[in-house]
Amino acid sequence: MGSNVVESLFEKKRLCISCYACVSACESDAIRMVEDDNGFLRATIAGDCIKCGKCLPVCPQLIQTDKHDDEPNLCLLKPSDSTSGLHPGTIAVLAKWIISREGLICGPLMKSDLNVSMSLTGDLFSMSKIQSCSYAYIDAEDTYKNVKDTIDSGREVLFIGLPCQVQAVKAFIGDSALLFTADIACKGQPSPVIYQKYLEEITSEKPVRQIRFEPKGKPDGTLEVMYDDGSVSTSYDNPYIRALDRNLIVNQACASCRIPGRSGTGDITIGDAERFKMLTVGLTAPEKAITFTSNTKKGETIREGVAASSMMDTYMVSLKRDASKSQKKDLHLGWIRMMNMVNRGIPFDKAAGYCMKWKFDIGIVGPWRSDEYGTALSYYALYNMVKDMGMEPILLDRRRDTKGAPSSPRILEKKYPFYSISKWYSNIQDQIEINNRVVRFVVGPGRVWKEAASDRDVASYHMLDFVEDGKRMASISSSVSKEDEGPVGPMVGALRRFAEVSTSDGDSASFLEDEGISAETVLDPVLLCDTDHLKALYESANLPLPEQFVFNYMIEPDNFIGMESFYDVLGYGPITISGPGHADKKRRDYPVTAIGSVENWIRCINDSAFVLTDSYYAVLFAILFKKPFIAIVNDSKNEAEARRISWILDCLELDSRAFKTVWEASESNTLRENIEYDSVYQILNGMQRRSLEWIERALDAPVSISDRY
Ligand code: SF4
Ligand code: SF4
Ligand code: SF4
Repeated sequence: MGSNVVESLFEKKRLCISCYACVSACESDAIRMVEDDNGFLRATIAGDCIKCGKCLPVCPQLIQTDKHDDEPNLCLLKPSDSTSGLHPGTIAVLAKWIISREGLICGPLMKSDLNVSMSLTGDLFSMSKIQSCSYAYIDAEDTYKNVKDTIDSGREVLFIGLPCQVQAVKAFIGDSALLFTADIACKGQPSPVIYQKYLEEITSEKPVRQIRFEPKGKPDGTLEVMYDDGSVSTSYDNPYIRALDRNLIVNQACASCRIPGRSGTGDITIGDAERFKMLTVGLTAPEKAITFTSNTKKGETIREGVAASSMMDTYMVSLKRDASKSQKKDLHLGWIRMMNMVNRGIPFDKAAGYCMKWKFDIGIVGPWRSDEYGTALSYYALYNMVKDMGMEPILLDRRRDTKGAPSSPRILEKKYPFYSISKWYSNIQDQIEINNRVVRFVVGPGRVWKEAASDRDVASYHMLDFVEDGKRMASISSSVSKEDEGPVGPMVGALRRFAEVSTSDGDSASFLEDEGISAETVLDPVLLCDTDHLKALYESANLPLPEQFVFNYMIEPDNFIGMESFYDVLGYGPITISGPGHADKKRRDYPVTAIGSVENWIRCINDSAFVLTDSYYAVLFAILFKKPFIAIVNDSKNEAEARRISWILDCLELDSRAFKTVWEASESNTLRENIEYDSVYQILNGMQRRSLEWIERALDAPVSISDRY
């Protein structure tokens, strides 16, 4: 066997079904099962591999499935033969048969902790507990070696497992007359982490003795939970079963399953009559009877053996094998989202319901695709903050019938997951649909209601014109002022529908208060979200930077005329970046660096020795990264920007860092003075806590993150 084949087996981790066959086959103990990001166990070479290739022919994802040429015989339980009036299950019938031959059964057994693992047993009581369905994750560690040891000792084994596990055991044991196999109806291998999480949830209130998936006599999709105190709860249309049925929580490897559908890898295939009925013509099956097909000569031995015990009727039914159709499961569209939600600690029922129905807690409205670095970061921070509060956000785009299409978020290299971005609606009538799937809506930071910056339709959209009455609406750190809205009436009227309104600065809040709208002032999300989210961005930046430089980010280039004197005082030069869409066209008398991404912008601030800017967000990031800075606050050039900068500097007692011109700043001693960030952060932490508490209240957040400050 070529070593490259071995390597390629272990590189294609997503194809690994964690059957443990290779682990059993490796005599060098070189393979370990390692959990991947989504909690699936993947075979990985962790020890000394001698490239013997023994792991290859046992892997069900590599080997070709045997083709059964004979038509299978269908065996059905005959109810009239049951003296107790109850139908004996297929496993019980099979157990009786193998015991009569002094053999053992190896199959999935639910332990007292409700986890399921392959168990080898000759005890009739334990055998009766072997499961013939695969709703739980089945741990197969050590199975194949134990089966082999038993067979080597001269005893027969009936191995019951998933089609891929049957494939693996046959490959591992080889051709042995003592091995009989039965494959069970496969629903795909569920995620072990999700199964565990689900167990934790159903056992959280009181101890559970047993759970039964789709018990006899109950409709499909039923889960029965039996508690230690004797009580029983029945969950119809159970979310865990439904999630598995819809391939929302299955192993990715099942999407590449090589086992042909309905052909059966075992000598017999265990299934229920309802499912087999679909494959047969004119068969009236006893209700919910459990049955099997015999697929091979050994299968016929089993069938004849159990028929002799007079409890089985055999129907010679021609089943249509369709070897071209694989068992493989097409992953649900929400699969990645489901894994993400569960990994974030979202309760299973909510995660499954949200993924299957494509629901969200919060629709975020605003310029999240902005080509302004700070605004793009502000929405990125809001998005992550909402997630950290245990909620599911979805980003909404303005509609096609508003002026201009939403631009692509080209300056943010890190992409939002596809499931967090809403469909791009044509018009308001189309967009109303989203009310059915989103619990509440927020308008985010920026001058979202400013007509001049967009158009009346966009402003109206930002006032949540598509949201139905009765839905919770809020604004978070939005900015507004008198000059934003010529006819103030429509905006004020629309905001009255909002349950909660907050602004980014005191002037915006005062303006709204004057209009009779109660507004809180809260910090921008970049100052509130977990800084790990921002660190992840600057760590992926790729812009080479000098050792020491002034980061000069300019919104209005005229604000920086004469800035050379500034650098003379500091003794080192700038990296100058222009704001969106202008500066470099207007002025060519100083070099402007094209940095490309938000990631590079944030790295520039983090790595700089000093920040010189007229941008509100560059000031916020300078504070966040504890950098010395000078803010140019020139309200004759950009009133809104100047207002927001002045407000935050006043609050943090940093107003000495604000100058109207660069000349004034250059001549001031402030340039050489350090900022006492300990005292700044004492004030900031209080503001952060108050802001988060307000946002958590406004959004009715399930998880509090305000304790961070
Ligand atoms: S090639 Fe041989 S030594 Fe290497 S992992 Fe496979 S079985 Fe083990
Ligand atoms: S599918 Fe089984 S045999 Fe193949 S790599 Fe994974 S654990 Fe090993
Ligand atoms: S779909 Fe294929 S790989 Fe997945 S559990 Fe079923 S038989 Fe195994």
